[in-house]
Amino acid sequence: MTTAGRHTRQSSETSPALPDRSIRKPADRLADVAVTALRGVGSRVAARLEKLGIRSVQDVLFHLPHRYQDRTRVQPIGSLRPGDEALIVGEIGLTQIRFGRRRSLISVVSDGTGSIALRFFHFSATQQANLERGRRIRCYGEVRRGAGSLEMVHPEYDVVEVDQPVPVETRLTPIYPTTEGLHQLSLRRITDQALALLEVNPPDELLPEQVLRQLGLPALTEALAVAHRPPPEVSTRELDARQSPGQRRLAFEELLAHHLSLRVLRARVRRHPSPPLAGNGRLTERFLNSLPFQLTPAQTRVAQEIGTELNQPFPMQRLIQGDVGSGKTVVAAVAALQAIEAGFQVAVMAPTELLAEQHRRTFCHWFEPLEVKVAWLSGRINAKQRRDELQKIAQHQATLVIGTHALFQEDVQFARLALVIIDEQHRFGVHQRLALREKGHQKMGHPHQLIMTATPIPRTLAMTVYADLDISLIDELPPGRKPVDTVVVPDSRRDEIIERIRNACTQGRQAYWVCTLIDDSEAVQAQAASETAGQLAETLPELAVGLIHGRIKSSEKEAIMRAFKNGELQLLVATTVIEVGVDVPRASLMIIENAERLGLAQLHQLRGRVGRGAEKSSCVLMYRRPLSEQARSRLAVLRDSNDGFAIAQRDLELRGPGEVLGTRQTGILDLRVADLARDRDLFPVIERVARDLLDHHRERVAPLVQRWVGNALNYLNV
Ligand code: ADP
Ligand code: MG
Repeated sequence: MTTAGRHTRQSSETSPALPDRSIRKPADRLADVAVTALRGVGSRVAARLEKLGIRSVQDVLFHLPHRYQDRTRVQPIGSLRPGDEALIVGEIGLTQIRFGRRRSLISVVSDGTGSIALRFFHFSATQQANLERGRRIRCYGEVRRGAGSLEMVHPEYDVVEVDQPVPVETRLTPIYPTTEGLHQLSLRRITDQALALLEVNPPDELLPEQVLRQLGLPALTEALAVAHRPPPEVSTRELDARQSPGQRRLAFEELLAHHLSLRVLRARVRRHPSPPLAGNGRLTERFLNSLPFQLTPAQTRVAQEIGTELNQPFPMQRLIQGDVGSGKTVVAAVAALQAIEAGFQVAVMAPTELLAEQHRRTFCHWFEPLEVKVAWLSGRINAKQRRDELQKIAQHQATLVIGTHALFQEDVQFARLALVIIDEQHRFGVHQRLALREKGHQKMGHPHQLIMTATPIPRTLAMTVYADLDISLIDELPPGRKPVDTVVVPDSRRDEIIERIRNACTQGRQAYWVCTLIDDSEAVQAQAASETAGQLAETLPELAVGLIHGRIKSSEKEAIMRAFKNGELQLLVATTVIEVGVDVPRASLMIIENAERLGLAQLHQLRGRVGRGAEKSSCVLMYRRPLSEQARSRLAVLRDSNDGFAIAQRDLELRGPGEVLGTRQTGILDLRVADLARDRDLFPVIERVARDLLDHHRERVAPLVQRWVGNALNYLNV
């Protein structure tokens, strides 16, 4: 069927045309056949397909419809309701141009059960002639309430012979995610050809038959055929929810492939030698004795897990998960000392300057009495300082090196690096993480890796997306922590909140005021924060107000943080740069402006800056009206819970893992078919099937990974 305006007699439901035969050598894998081999795909169409991530015929097949239309049955016009999408057949009773608010062509069509108006705002004289009274037409479109009767606006239609049987589609009609300039009709023609190629050249079935039988999933070729051209008996509801067996099969295979790729990677990494770090416990013991507190049982357990593993002759790849404030840094310090005792160097990497600076202060404070020399690399130190630091690192005068991404630059040469600690890894996706690891290898041999994250993700999800890592969990907070009281208030109560700050700070407490903006630009954020700081300083003349944001020079930033930590500043106005890791125990009040704009995880991180001292702490989530339903539930989750795991679980439900763990593209896994939220019930099965494949069908693993993950992991020469 054609769209309005173009009018051929009718669509061909005959077998789709095969592309040029010359490209089809029998051994061609569809992944190796470029889309340009398909008929109708020239460089322009290819460029548009490329935007959808489609380069090969296999990519076409993995580009699944996101919904379906049912054009397999003709609906009686009398049964239509607004909102339906329907195929109808009827006789034209009247066609005329109406001059209403907008000129339009109206055709009234009846089928004996009722009548409906077709409305066209754009039309040609030919079209008008074509729709003459007495013609029988077949028509597909969305039904809506018009003036006086139901109508379809710009439906697809074609004229059918009065005495011929009405042609209907034999399959549900797929609607593909598309991009500008690429019509559904073109995508259908392209997939028709890809499906025809699939039939003559089916890819290997890589899932064992027994697995398919157990899970009730169809074979790959059938799954693809059904997903693209479902027969009418498949429920559109099931299809739209991506729950049909064919779609599930594809999602399953994709998740399995990603999981396997990470397991293979892990196995490969473990084949490399690493220096076993047998510490003598001398520094560690002195360190633990110098702390003003005892490690919690959870910290002790995790420190031991790490200690044992560092002593193995292959690289540790471990993730420490622990809620905000659970004390991950101390555990990392214990690990670092073990490496240093054994005569090696350690690198600590943080995602932001601010956090790196804080680690530097913390580690210097802890390690200087132990005579451990600390080096410092950030993007902001000057050339001379940098040369000095590089020399200390290369000549092993420094044993602990702290910094940002600057640590991984070309000219950073470690003398004896044995352990890399990465903080707050939720900012890095899988591929970034692997790239970091790779850099580590090129520059520094095969160090052990310890990653710390405050983003708690459910165990089964973790096993799928972090299958290359072992996980340690710090599942308790240090004693005496009081949950942070959280309230949600509209910004119309701003004055009241400012009074609250005045009271708290004049009684010796300290407060944060966090400014948020949708604008990503640091300049705009900095501007807004400095205006707010100005206003607050004016309204609260008795308080010392500080300001910190991404544009402030790092030496100055450090001075401001120090002043706040020492209590010389009472109110610190900040952008979300303070989100991660900043630790000032005496600060016990936090105001977050426009809290509705931030995600749950980010809010929880921010709030984690208070509630670190003896004082009972509070957090005020200030929002601007109107508040969406989504935002209201998000803020309520935070008000009702202080538990990072519970919050993360809710966040997953509200937003889905793609959002929680990073965006789709830069995110944790680059998925084409599967969805980590929707398909999460598959995770436990995936683990089991992956083990089965590795044990009994090893030869299938590499092609599976190749099919879905491609070469993405290959450049990581591990
Ligand atoms: P996070 O896990 O969020 O990175 P930190 O490592 O920054 O947490 O620790 C938060 C605060 O708790 C720090 O001030 C740290 O010194 C303190 N801390 C860590 N462990 C303990 C403990 N066992 N008892 C008391 N305080 C602790
Ligand atoms: Mg931390």
